[in-house]
Amino acid sequence: MKKKIYNFSAGPSMLPTEVMLYAQKQFLNWKNTGCSVLEISHRSLDFNTVVEESTKYLRNLLNIPEEYIILFCSGGARGQFSSIPLNLLGNCNKADYIDSGYWSYHAMVEAKKYCTPKHIIVKKKINNKYSIMNMNHWPLSKNSAYMHFCPNETIEGVAIYEEPNFIHRKVIGDFSSCLLSRVIDIKKYDLIYASAQKNIGSSGITIIIAKSNLLGQVHPLIPSIMDYKNIFKNQSMFNTPATFSWYLSSLVLKWMKNMGGVQYFQKLNAKKAKFLYTKIDESDFYINDIDKYNRSQMNITFRLRDCSLNDMFINKSIKFGLKFIKGHKIIGGFRASIYNAMSFSGVRKLVDFMKYFEKRFG
Ligand SMILES: *Cc1c(COP(=O)(O)O)cnc(C)c1O
Repeated sequence: MKKKIYNFSAGPSMLPTEVMLYAQKQFLNWKNTGCSVLEISHRSLDFNTVVEESTKYLRNLLNIPEEYIILFCSGGARGQFSSIPLNLLGNCNKADYIDSGYWSYHAMVEAKKYCTPKHIIVKKKINNKYSIMNMNHWPLSKNSAYMHFCPNETIEGVAIYEEPNFIHRKVIGDFSSCLLSRVIDIKKYDLIYASAQKNIGSSGITIIIAKSNLLGQVHPLIPSIMDYKNIFKNQSMFNTPATFSWYLSSLVLKWMKNMGGVQYFQKLNAKKAKFLYTKIDESDFYINDIDKYNRSQMNITFRLRDCSLNDMFINKSIKFGLKFIKGHKIIGGFRASIYNAMSFSGVRKLVDFMKYFEKRFG
């Protein structure tokens, strides 16, 4: 089936057509059970295959070592903004929060309820370009419980590709909009998390990958539903999980594996992003003011030199079959989210449109 429109939404975002067709085919009679996956107990043997497969594919795709556990939680990435301090502060009252944009800043704001976070701004503007300080210049504090950062700021389109290499320091990463988009070394992190609706599946489920020795230093007032040790003990089913989101995620993970794994998507994503940024940089009609080393390959932001053309750009893009390229309201402009499911032809169509628009109005 050929797609008529391309969807650049930041999340929930487009899913692989093959996966949706498969889910559609199975929708009313899942695995010959005579029931939909929506109607099945999370404790049934059939659903257990979803649990096992999603864990297996994720472990395989990201090469997750044995000493790391995988949890499937509720409450989205925002829920983790509270879960992390409640699980990891222990007796410590300090944590380092790296601020590279909207989401990492808001993780810090939430943590203020539980500790005195050190607010570390790492985004700098030099010669009209935003860039992120190298990690060895991050002014981390001496005795903090952990350091939290976000390697892909979904709203601004700023990415940190450098991987942490700190000794005696717990590192937490919000990978909501970039998990499985490129190869990472899990061993460099103590805990990473991602909600599903950006690069993994539909909204509902949130993935946690954590070193097992992090469990069990919880705040005494932690809600049980947020306690990693409790979630682990209950195989991520302390409460009823978002079963459909979990199921869909397992299908997407399997699809990623069959396509060639994270290595395949890393190459494809680099190619897509390069193609789009090359168009943006070709003239000053389109502007992106992020340093080339910190440009996101997942969420590509840009604006028009002449912002009086903004509405026209949006209206014409929709007619062209390109949807949801309006930027987030807090920064304006435009944003093309091009996660794993976005094909190169989708990006080419956007670039074709941008060329046409510039010719006509530039
Ligand atoms: C979307 C997003 C969030 C918030 O995710 P929810 O699942 O809506 O809570 C947090 N961090 C990043 C980096 C995101 O992209």
